[in-house]
Amino acid sequence: MRKKIIAGNWKMNKTPMEALELVEQIKDKCNVSECDVVFCVPFIDLIPVIEKVKDTNISVGAQNMYFEDNGAYTGEISPKMLKESGVKYVILGHSERRQYFCETDETVNKKVKKAIEYGLIPIICVGETLEQREKGVTVDFINVQVKSALYNVSKEDAENIVIAYEPIWAIGTGKTATNAQAQEVCAEIRKTLSSIYDNETADKMRIQYGGSVNEKNAKDLFAMGDIDGGLVGGASLKAEFIDIVKSI
Ligand code: PEP
Repeated sequence: MRKKIIAGNWKMNKTPMEALELVEQIKDKCNVSECDVVFCVPFIDLIPVIEKVKDTNISVGAQNMYFEDNGAYTGEISPKMLKESGVKYVILGHSERRQYFCETDETVNKKVKKAIEYGLIPIICVGETLEQREKGVTVDFINVQVKSALYNVSKEDAENIVIAYEPIWAIGTGKTATNAQAQEVCAEIRKTLSSIYDNETADKMRIQYGGSVNEKNAKDLFAMGDIDGGLVGGASLKAEFIDIVKSI
């Protein structure tokens, strides 16, 4: 039985002071054992937030990292720095990074392998545009993203990886995928994982849905057979995130 995982992606929101205020407001009610809860916060908020949740079950994640250990990469953050700071998860290949920061399937794969090397758990984001959905190429496109991200990743390492299915047309738009649409693609992703590895590995891997998840639609989405929780953007910045966690 896969344990569900609800991760908040704060994106570029909350100064360190604001971050501490929000965590203070929601941490007790998010401190549950039924599912894994992760706050993926801006780099500058990582250390204060990690300190703030240290006596809870809540984990902290980063929203990106570079694929080298250290060196002359001005402005980048290494997996080693994240690990030493107490970070557990790292979002990789979010569509906003692919769209605005030239992230490619190749760089995502490099980052996935480097994150694993340092014991960080990647949350790998995949998802189609509206145009791709309308052309009927959603599953083909997502298969390429999944296979590329996991290229040369062993099945032992893959077991802990989280895949987040996030249709781009649903991110921040208020247009959530229907339960059936989200389940269909998550089931296809699991089939792809079986084809790369085997059924047993695919059954262990967690697949989240992300895209305008809120306290009203979360329960039904997370009840679908292949949806093991959610990656939540906008609604993770408010007390409403508690209700999303409680929907498990
Ligand atoms: C996201 O950015 O990962 C996301 C799912 O955003 P939102 O919930 O705001 O659509």
